[in-house]
Amino acid sequence: GAKSAGRRRFLQFDESMQDGRRDVLGIENELRAALQVGQFEPYFQPLVRLADRQRVGYEALVRWNHPTRGVLEPSQFLAVAEECGLVDAIDWQMYRAACTNGVELTRDGGYITINVSPRHFQGNDLDSRLLGLAASAKLDPSRLRIEVTEGTLLGDPEAVAKQLQKLANASIATALDDFGTGYCSLGYVHRFPLRMLKIDRSFIEPLGGRNKRRSEAVIGAVLALAGSLDIEVLAEGIETEAQHEALLAMGCGYGQGFLYGRPRPAAHWLPLDQSRAA
Ligand code: C2E
Ligand code: MG
Ligand code: MG
Ligand code: MG
Repeated sequence: GAKSAGRRRFLQFDESMQDGRRDVLGIENELRAALQVGQFEPYFQPLVRLADRQRVGYEALVRWNHPTRGVLEPSQFLAVAEECGLVDAIDWQMYRAACTNGVELTRDGGYITINVSPRHFQGNDLDSRLLGLAASAKLDPSRLRIEVTEGTLLGDPEAVAKQLQKLANASIATALDDFGTGYCSLGYVHRFPLRMLKIDRSFIEPLGGRNKRRSEAVIGAVLALAGSLDIEVLAEGIETEAQHEALLAMGCGYGQGFLYGRPRPAAHWLPLDQSRAA
């Protein structure tokens, strides 16, 4: 399944490095050591208003700053970390750094988002943990948003809705990530206090091409529903001007994708000096 695929991918990666095969225990030890010295860090990708392409926020995406292999992406280590039970620790290391970076990144307004997996809803303390993190980073909680997937909502809908409401009361808004890939019907999302729907990249990819009709129909329906519920809509994975123009014409408010910027370390997005900030 997904777990062994993750392990396989890491091993393939390893083999290509010519430093011999490692077993999962070796990877686990390496992940633990990486946690100890803090090698997990957020990269930030801009979220933009389509009308003027201005940045309204940034999504924090975890990277493993590996001393010899370079910067690793989630697909290269999250599955194996999951298998070793280390994703929680990695997440919290990354959330902490994201909040710290978030202070500067949101100084002129806007927000940062973090990806929160279903596991973090198992306890009943997500709101207090996130508020504690924001407080120790001196980040205003209204500058922090979370992203959850449909799977999270469907797990234990009533309990999750309650926790999202507690977060909303603490001014931490929620975005529904990868919308359209799971089993949430359009009529189901109104049960949850959501601030934003992020339409999955698979619906954006066909825009501007031959097979755009179906995608346009789905996106149109999402925009109509979200509009009536006063929920913001963001299109993920925008890579071309044609996609940008199509979404703008349909009335989609926000976008994210390589067209506007790839994920980069926080410093990339900050003013280099006062003259640039002025
Ligand atoms: P996601 O939350 O849907 O994040 C968006 C992914 O799409 C990112 O991949 C981003 O680099 C990629 N992307 C953005 N724009 C484009 C584009 O125009 N074209 C293409 N082809 N891709 C684009 P990334 O950083 O590799 O992250 C993959 C997934 O890993 C995320 O999907 C999220 O589910 C998970 N993830 C990332 N950071 C964390 C974290 O801190 N904790 C947990 N638990 N999961 C995380
Ligand atoms: Mg996300
Ligand atoms: Mg996403
Ligand atoms: Mg996605």
